[in-house]
Amino acid sequence: MASRKLLLLPGDGIGPETMAEVEKLIALMNDTVDAGFETETALVGGAAYDAEGAPVSDATMALATACDAVLFGAVGGPKWDGVPYEKRPEAGLLRLRKDLGLFANLRPAICYPALADASSLKRAVIEGLDILIVRELTGGVYFGEPKEIIDLGNGQKRAIDTQVYETYEIERIARAAFDLAKTRRNKVTSMEKRNVMKSGLYWNEVVTRIHRDEYPDVTLEHELADAGGMKLVKAPKQFDVIVTDNLFGDMLSDVAAQLTGSLGMLPSASLGAVDDATGKRRALYEPVHGSAPDIAGKGLANPLAMIASFAMGLRYSFQMIAEADALEAAIAETLEAGIRTGDIMAEGCEQVGTAGMGDAVAARFRAKLAA
Ligand code: NAD
Repeated sequence: MASRKLLLLPGDGIGPETMAEVEKLIALMNDTVDAGFETETALVGGAAYDAEGAPVSDATMALATACDAVLFGAVGGPKWDGVPYEKRPEAGLLRLRKDLGLFANLRPAICYPALADASSLKRAVIEGLDILIVRELTGGVYFGEPKEIIDLGNGQKRAIDTQVYETYEIERIARAAFDLAKTRRNKVTSMEKRNVMKSGLYWNEVVTRIHRDEYPDVTLEHELADAGGMKLVKAPKQFDVIVTDNLFGDMLSDVAAQLTGSLGMLPSASLGAVDDATGKRRALYEPVHGSAPDIAGKGLANPLAMIASFAMGLRYSFQMIAEADALEAAIAETLEAGIRTGDIMAEGCEQVGTAGMGDAVAARFRAKLAA
């Protein structure tokens, strides 16, 4: 039996409730298809600060380094608004991303046909949408130095951020995007601002070279990030994989997310380098939404973003492609059957809570695994 090691970090707010629905699926897979998942659970965020004095402890970091993939719920909440900056709940997530070297952030934007009317765009524009934004996560203007506000002494100040990319950073995110495209519709669109930014010019040059030398069989297009943003809203289905830097990726992935409706539906993955010793890629899977303190503990949270994040883990960390397809199909069929949590409720549908939604997906997933 394969051994697949998962670290579960439920976190705060609705994190534990939504993670519980994934734990049901893990148990189901171990029982029915002998998946061999071994899980450990640890604290992160405010819960870890309360119990361990830090938003992620060294012991938890050691577990995260040793496992095959991390499943992360959500962190934060008003209870921790006053804690020291470096110990705030979000610092736990940032440390995980940084110490695990998670440089590629994957944000799929999928429009389930049953939810097409929840989009602000027309059904014809959005129905069947399936695109993947690959955002560089550890470089660029959010981290470049100098980063400061200088007092010029004449009543003026100067604020500086530095957009900086080195060759290896662009090469590895480009390779990640091309590899992902090969598992999809074989097309990459690279977005930058080569008309006004040196880093955009160099980004374009490196992506073009990696394509020519290593991935000539994948279709590559280049777009200026502003024009690309317009096309993303006007006719999003023309894209397959979009690769872009940290800043543009932050914005474009949120725009793409909004195309598809609710926050409770959006999964993500953050991938690192392949470990030479094990041949495995470091990875963390998490919903895009936060800890939703307004509904936490009430059994109302939509667990689908957490479940879809687990499906991404099956696909990208465990190469369980058929199982990932089955789980994603189970989500789509559950929605098709009119089952909804409060955040995506529509007329004529049946409203359920967190566990009701998790059970509805699990039943359909079980049937598919057995087929
Ligand atoms: P949020 O995503 O937690 O919630 C925004 C709104 O969406 C709320 O009304 C919430 O009830 C709703 N919502 C979110 N997820 C839902 C789900 N699965 N089902 C049903 N409804 C859902 O964002 P916020 O309110 O701005 O932030 C709350 C806390 O979460 C803050 O402390 C913030 O810092 C933190 N946060 C954490 C992460 C993370 O852990 N990655 C991300 C964003 C925000």
